[in-house]
Amino acid sequence: MRRSELTIDLGALRRNVRRLREAAAPAELWAVVKADAYGHGAQDAARAALEAGAAALCVATVQEGAALRRAHPDVRLVVLGPLAPGEERLARDARLEVTVSTPALPDGLDVHVKVDTGMGRWGMSPAELADVPPGPVVGLMSHLATADEPDPGPALAQLERFAVVADRFPGVVRHLANSAATLRLPDARFDAVRCGIAIYGLSPFGDDPARHGLEPVLAWRSQVALAKTLAPGQSSGYGRRFVAREPSRIGIVPVGYADGFRRGLTGAQVLVSGRRRRVLGAVSMDAFAVELGPGDAAGAPVTLIGDGLTAEEHASHLGTITYELVCGIDSRPGRADRRIIDGS
Ligand SMILES: *Cc1c(COP(=O)(O)O)cnc(C)c1O
Repeated sequence: MRRSELTIDLGALRRNVRRLREAAAPAELWAVVKADAYGHGAQDAARAALEAGAAALCVATVQEGAALRRAHPDVRLVVLGPLAPGEERLARDARLEVTVSTPALPDGLDVHVKVDTGMGRWGMSPAELADVPPGPVVGLMSHLATADEPDPGPALAQLERFAVVADRFPGVVRHLANSAATLRLPDARFDAVRCGIAIYGLSPFGDDPARHGLEPVLAWRSQVALAKTLAPGQSSGYGRRFVAREPSRIGIVPVGYADGFRRGLTGAQVLVSGRRRRVLGAVSMDAFAVELGPGDAAGAPVTLIGDGLTAEEHASHLGTITYELVCGIDSRPGRADRRIIDGS
């Protein structure tokens, strides 16, 4: 390991996909692998998801879709985001299916009509659907704004609006549910569900993924690169935000916010040699400091995510969601090493 290592457990991803397929049946499970599979690596995640029975892949952009086409010549690939000007040709060449938010359809492409049932973002109003020429339409979709929230009311209202308009497009594939709805709202399944976060073993509700039968796919580990003892009054890091009151052993870990270990993680816990230890002082761009136990020296293993320490815990410390946390991890070779575990 150079600076840190990301371990991607494709066996766990396959088990999550199978678990979600059971929850979704008889609807198909479509694997959402946008944003480099939420930081997990789109090529690996797509392959494993398909092996476990995912019936299609969903991406955010035409570029992401085209990058997956070569490895998967026959799979259904759906672009969830809007087509940028001039991208029709690339989308056609890569045989991507696209989503549209206005009745003006692009030439020569199979489209999924996106209807705004309450998300208030992409999608056309139910009234505009009347102007959609039926020929190229292969799917009808919508997206839920609150499927992860305790009150199911607004999501159920969206679901009802969707069911009403779906009657106007008989025979096309209807899809509405994200991970949260797949796990929580059986009536939202329709013909296919689009699961992202849960296939990576992260809870869409921000709680322990094990409660939903999900296993985290990603682990992130590093090590203490330098150990030192601060005398009382000495500080560590920018702004002297940690000042030692007593002689304090600290370890410097070569991971920082440029790697995706967010600056707000001051005071959060990581594992040093398997024990919970606090992040001390300000996280800097390429390093942070951690408290050490009596036996810890340079080379001690540090787990940033994994080994029982969940991404949900860090997200909660940061006041954000796991989606944002894992999308921000930099897995490029100059930063982290990437290791694939590919058991069953
Ligand atoms: C990202 C996305 C999803 C997946 O949502 P998860 O909460 O990650 O399961 C589904 N549908 C659309 C339209 C999306 O943009």
